[in-house]
Amino acid sequence: MDKIAMTTPLVEMDGDEMTRVLWQMIKDELILPFVDLKSEYYDLGLKNRDETDDKVTVEAAEATRRYKVAVKCATITANAARVKEYGLKEMWKSPNGTIRSILDGTVFRTPITVNGIEPYVRTWKKPIVMARHAYGDVYKASEMSIPGPGTCELVYKAADGSTASELIHKFDGPGVVQGMHNLDSSIYAFARSCFAYALEMKMDLWFASKDTISKKYDQHFKLIFQEIYDNEYKEEFEKNGIEYFYTLIDDAVARVVKSEGGFVWALKNYDGDVMSDLVASAFGSLAMMSSVLVSPHGYYEYEAAHGTVQRHYYKYLKGEKTSTNPIATIFAWSGALRKRGELDGNAALMNYADKLEEASLAVIESGLMTGDLAAISTLPDIKTLDSESFIKAIRAKLAELLA
Ligand code: NAP
Ligand code: MG
Repeated sequence: MDKIAMTTPLVEMDGDEMTRVLWQMIKDELILPFVDLKSEYYDLGLKNRDETDDKVTVEAAEATRRYKVAVKCATITANAARVKEYGLKEMWKSPNGTIRSILDGTVFRTPITVNGIEPYVRTWKKPIVMARHAYGDVYKASEMSIPGPGTCELVYKAADGSTASELIHKFDGPGVVQGMHNLDSSIYAFARSCFAYALEMKMDLWFASKDTISKKYDQHFKLIFQEIYDNEYKEEFEKNGIEYFYTLIDDAVARVVKSEGGFVWALKNYDGDVMSDLVASAFGSLAMMSSVLVSPHGYYEYEAAHGTVQRHYYKYLKGEKTSTNPIATIFAWSGALRKRGELDGNAALMNYADKLEEASLAVIESGLMTGDLAAISTLPDIKTLDSESFIKAIRAKLAELLA
């Protein structure tokens, strides 16, 4: 069989630990035998980030702006323990944070559904896509402990020297305060990414926050979403028979649980963090979730939603076989290759990406799966495989589908 040709490279960001091991297996077994892969490779493994003073992360993000499509392996976010473990020069920042701030976007996470892995919510028939704003709020907040009686204010000093202030609280005793912010540029980018994604997927878009209580902050998000919808997307949404609506977050939560699924749910940073873990777990497993960062400038970065699966890696280092689930990482590759195909008008590459996903799910539905899925599957005959055997089973199915 001739290998599928590519015209433009995609950006490949390698990572750490167990997912780095899976990365190589996926390339060797599922990609290189079928595709004449063109990729610009960046090693975001912690050792190389340290050796390059983390310049490699910035270079990888900049390459993504040039090529528009990237696929990223899970990476370690350094903490004190990792500084010691790897003898790091510094406690490097989260690569995801660095990349997001350069590409400026929204993270979309979609459960990968398959027969035999049932959602815990009985009414859910279709995936719920989570759209999480990835900038600001509590993730970039300043906090202070208040030791005793006194007054706390928010103070804004304008560039022209004028000031404005707002009383936070007059404390009679000890307490705590927090100041957080967001930027119009980032909120507009968030809104545009959500509308563009919903339109591409032909799904309704919901946006929820707490504007009845947060009358300036959350209200600001709500007004920007409405402005972008009215001015830029209303016509296209109506033409495609899809809907945008805003509702309060508590109302949204109640509706989501009673829904059939099949929509995009946009949320502010913290709400998105919490709700996407809830929705992913309720659909079955974090390893069955695809994740893509979509920037309003037309850049796409595909990744797995989970981490580097450290506990499995230490077993692997001891020479033990692990049953780590590669599905989210496979879907990062298929997502990136499909997008590459779409941008380049490469139908063969898009077809390959579809077949890779089809083969992966077919293997699970045939009863062959990794341990995390075997523990929750409702199929009658299940065989638990180690990662390598599972990937080889997918390769056999893929070869059959492409023949
Ligand atoms: P994790 O890698 O998500 O794994 C947590 C646990 O979830 C695992 O121990 C495993 O449970 C289960 N799990 C996750 N993915 C799995 C898979 N593909 N197959 C089977 N089981 C899976 O989180 P972590 O171990 O807490 O974090 C490890 C490193 O990942 C940290 O250094 C963190 O900074 C990094 N991280 C990176 C990203 C990213 O790059 N996107 C995201 C999150 C975390 P059992 O052990 O019970 O089998
Ligand atoms: Mg989280």
